[in-house]
Amino acid sequence: MKPLSLLTPDDARALAGVIFDLDDTVLDHGALTEAAYGALFRLRETGLALIACTGRPAGWGEVIQRQWPIDATIVENGAVALVREQAGPIAGPGEGLAPVAGAGRVVKLDALDRDTRRARRAELVALADDMVRRFPAAALADDNDQRVTDVTIDIGEHRRVPPEDVRTMRAVLRERGVRTLVSSVHLHLTRDPADKATGAVRLLSTRFGEDPTRARYRYAFVGDSGNDGVAFAAFTLTFGVANVRAHLGKLSVPPRFVASQPMGRGFAEITRRIVELRKNAPEP
Ligand SMILES: [Mg+2]
Repeated sequence: MKPLSLLTPDDARALAGVIFDLDDTVLDHGALTEAAYGALFRLRETGLALIACTGRPAGWGEVIQRQWPIDATIVENGAVALVREQAGPIAGPGEGLAPVAGAGRVVKLDALDRDTRRARRAELVALADDMVRRFPAAALADDNDQRVTDVTIDIGEHRRVPPEDVRTMRAVLRERGVRTLVSSVHLHLTRDPADKATGAVRLLSTRFGEDPTRARYRYAFVGDSGNDGVAFAAFTLTFGVANVRAHLGKLSVPPRFVASQPMGRGFAEITRRIVELRKNAPEP
């Protein structure tokens, strides 16, 4: 991993957007700091598209897509995305009024219908219940009610689950045909094939008009842990916040660049470097 000082103006100038993880990348132990939130505005001012990409639930994505200065939110490790439609004419008695800026409806992009999702999820909940009975250090995560595709077990958010328990749970679940993904806080159970890289590339090609191959060069990815590994491998320009060093053992491909600061401060540091290079680079 290289220091941010080695990032070149050409690297920064070639970007169309930045995709970023939330937990322990933009957020500090779940909390949004002024530095990290401000960094999103500074990036956006240089003309970059911004896409959040998280293992957190669709219900959380619904909220941040409405409120944050971002173009899309990928949730549940790539299975579902939220985007804002262009604001249309206002129907009813107010017809003729100009739509409010940013007031377009937020829509959820999911390949499966609601009934199929509910049936799949009920089966995953039963398996997760069985896991937390067998491994009492673990518990169902607090955010399950807002999920549509996966089920999460808390392994590091409010619980400290021994790594050997996590490994055994993953092996048992794999035998039952369930895919598992691990973030810094959760073990995810899913039957969806998506991950952060495939979810991001699919969104970029279907909603942003990007060629799926070129998208990997035109978008940077910023992350910190195991479920970001696929994106560190898929995208050309990748960044880790300093706490990624604790997860290098679980990453087959590390990020190309690493910040000296952790979490939200690291995200702000990466952002400052990209903004500085984009502002100072000569016009192509
Ligand atoms: Mg993370």
